[in-house]
Amino acid sequence: MTLPLIDRAIAHENNIAIVASIGTFTYRDLRQTAAEIATNLLHQPADLQEQRVAFLIPPGFEYVATLWGIWQAGGVAVPLCVVHPRPELEYVIADSAATIIIAHPDFADRLRPIAEERNLRFILTSEYLPVKISPLPRIDITRRALILYTSGTTGKPKGVVTTHQNIQAQITSLVTAWKWTASDRILHVLPLHHIHGIINVLSCALWVGAECQMLPKFDAETVWQRIMAGNLTLFMAVPTIYVKLIKVWETADGELQKQMSAGCRQMRLMISGSAALPLPVLETWQNISGHFLLERYGMTEIGMALSNPLHGERLAGYVGNPLPEVAVRLVDENDNLVAPGMPGEIQVHSPSVFLEYWQKPEATARAFCDRWFRTGDFAIFEHGSYRILGRMSVDIIKTGGYKVSALEIESVLFAHPDILECAVVGIEDPEWGERVCAALVLRPESDLTLASLRSWAKERIATYKVPAQIVVVEELPRNAMGKLTKPSIAQLF
Ligand code: AMP
Repeated sequence: MTLPLIDRAIAHENNIAIVASIGTFTYRDLRQTAAEIATNLLHQPADLQEQRVAFLIPPGFEYVATLWGIWQAGGVAVPLCVVHPRPELEYVIADSAATIIIAHPDFADRLRPIAEERNLRFILTSEYLPVKISPLPRIDITRRALILYTSGTTGKPKGVVTTHQNIQAQITSLVTAWKWTASDRILHVLPLHHIHGIINVLSCALWVGAECQMLPKFDAETVWQRIMAGNLTLFMAVPTIYVKLIKVWETADGELQKQMSAGCRQMRLMISGSAALPLPVLETWQNISGHFLLERYGMTEIGMALSNPLHGERLAGYVGNPLPEVAVRLVDENDNLVAPGMPGEIQVHSPSVFLEYWQKPEATARAFCDRWFRTGDFAIFEHGSYRILGRMSVDIIKTGGYKVSALEIESVLFAHPDILECAVVGIEDPEWGERVCAALVLRPESDLTLASLRSWAKERIATYKVPAQIVVVEELPRNAMGKLTKPSIAQLF
């Protein structure tokens, strides 16, 4: 016996677990391959004892088997992001102090040099796996399981550490609220280095013995084909994905539109989260699909906290009420409860809340008020439901569901030889939620263009963090203290 998530798979061994581009795999296949991967990882120690294993594998069976294999070997999984350039991968590998890197052959060129430089064990997913499974360690659920990197208001991204117990609480809360069963079939279209894809979609499906169909990457046309195939029961995405699906539906001919819509109507539930769902998207999607999207609110550090009801009235623009086992409160700047009907910061207390920021005890301590996690998001409770009002920091940008730090992008842009000063802001955008925009002061002789800046930046940060728009100014707006005034900078766009 090892971990409940993995042990439970015995009960539905013959069910299909993963449908991927390379084939269809049952829970028996998954358990077997995960145990082989664990054995391979354990070729010297009997238990990885929370060594960090960073891995970069496109969505599919190998990703899932590797995640389970790391857990069964007693390791802490550190999923890397497939669209991150080398400096960002290197940062995560260094910060997590990973001792092992697992890579799909497609990423070997990007990762092998990092492993060699740091003298880390390097494993390719194409390597031959041991046939004989060795005894696997017993893993207590209070042990660390996962580190997900997330951007904050200061410095570089921080590693959010969750234990197996935290993950289990995140899963069971959603399984109960959204009534997952083994008959569910979900199409997975989300990144697998982020909580939404790893927990809400993948791990909830695996907990109940459901089928998870995985696309190697998001593509709106392919998603529609899968929806039209008509055998899905569930779909979860960020608002940007719904916008992209709407665009394809709107350009299809009438007959095709009918088939697309019919596919949606076969499903029992469609969910949106990770960023605010704009009202026009909710309404257009309802016309197309017949589904009033269930909007929920959550965060890497806390799992999911608030959700509209599965059955019962969902209010447009609201995120519902606390999920099972989750306590939510709204407080003022002194951490005192606000009066009923007044806005306040959301604080969360729940077994799903993370353990710590990896090796950042001060940041972890600052993030809590007693046992309550400070989300940094404002909300109001009205009409029997929570409504998200926004974030406390203008330096957190949500673009396409990704959380990015304006300060992190600024520090990269500062390294450009032509840039003297810069300020990054998020500007409202109908497709991306917010788009990353940069105001720049350039050297007088500079001929920097948006295109040349973007290709320079893409070598250093993920494409979704690269400014989509720039304005060049003589000087940046600052207050009397010399501090950048971000609202005035936003007005430049
Ligand atoms: P992440 O940790 O990347 O999932 O980002 C979490 C942040 O996304 C939260 O702190 C919120 O600012 C934002 N967020 C998540 N869900 C919603 C939602 N339904 N409405 C508005 N903002 C959301």
